Amino acid sequence: MSGSVTVIGLGPGDPRYLTPAAQAALDAAEDLIGYVPYVARVPERPGLTRHASDNRVEVDRARHALELAAAGRRVAVVSGGDPGVFAMAAALFEALEAGNPAWRSLPITVEPGITAMLAAAARVGAPLGGDFCAISLSDNLKPWEVITARLDAVLAADLVVALYNPVSRARPWQLGAALDLAAEHRAPDTPVILARAVGRPDEAVRVLPLAKARHAEADMATLVMIGASATRLIPRDGREPFVYTPRSVAR
Ligand code: SAH
Repeated sequence: MSGSVTVIGLGPGDPRYLTPAAQAALDAAEDLIGYVPYVARVPERPGLTRHASDNRVEVDRARHALELAAAGRRVAVVSGGDPGVFAMAAALFEALEAGNPAWRSLPITVEPGITAMLAAAARVGAPLGGDFCAISLSDNLKPWEVITARLDAVLAADLVVALYNPVSRARPWQLGAALDLAAEHRAPDTPVILARAVGRPDEAVRVLPLAKARHAEADMATLVMIGASATRLIPRDGREPFVYTPRSVAR
C-alpha cells in the first residue's frame, strides 16, 4: 500500500496559525476530507480532490479516508483547531480500530493545530496559567448526566474549565445550565471568557463576571472559559483588562 492518511489541524481560523508541518501535509495531499467549512478553508488546486461532508458523519468520513488510502491515495483529513481535540483524529482511530485489519499498516500521522482554548486564552492574557481542563458540552456522543457530573467534579477541584460546543440550535439551554452549576462553586465575580470565532474576521471576545455571563449570547463558534477561584483581572485605563490565573497555589 503506498497511500497514507494525515489528520491535520487547521488552527482556529487565521492562516498564520497553521503550522508549517500542517501546510506541508496539505500541499502533499491528493484527497481532502472534512466537514464543509474546514474543507473550504483549504484553497483549491489542480491534483487535489475535495470531499466535503456534513458534521455528523465523522466515522463514515474517517472510513472513507482509510479506504482511499488503502487504494493508494495520499489523504488529508482536516479539522479546525487541533484534530485531537473533540475532532477527527479520534474518529479516525475509531474507524481504524473497528475496520479492516490491513488498514493498520497504513502510514497514519496526526499534525497538531492550535486549539480554540489556547487561541482564546492568548487573546485575553493567561487564564490557563494554572491547572485547567476541557469539556465538550455536546451531548451527541455522551449523556448530559455524564457532562454535569464531570463539570461538578472539575469545578469542585477548582480547575479553570474550557467549554467546547457550548450551544447549538438543538441545545440552546446547556450553557446556561453549566454556568448555573459554576455559580454553585464560584464567586459571582469569577471571570468568564466568551471567545467567538477567534482568528476569523468576525472574532468577538468578551470577559464577563460569572453572574452576568449567564445572560450573554454564545453560539456554536464560541469557546467559553470559566475561571478558577484564583483567576483574576488586571484592570487597565481605557483598555480591556488582562485575565490571568497565577501558576502558584498557596500551601
Ligand atoms: N478541534 C477543535 C474543536 C472542535 S469542537 C479545536 O481544537 O479547536 C467545536 C467547538 O470548538 C466549537 O463549538 C467552539 O466551542 C470551539 N471553537 C472552534 N473554533 C473556534 C474559534 N475559532 N473560536 C472560538 N471557539 C472555537
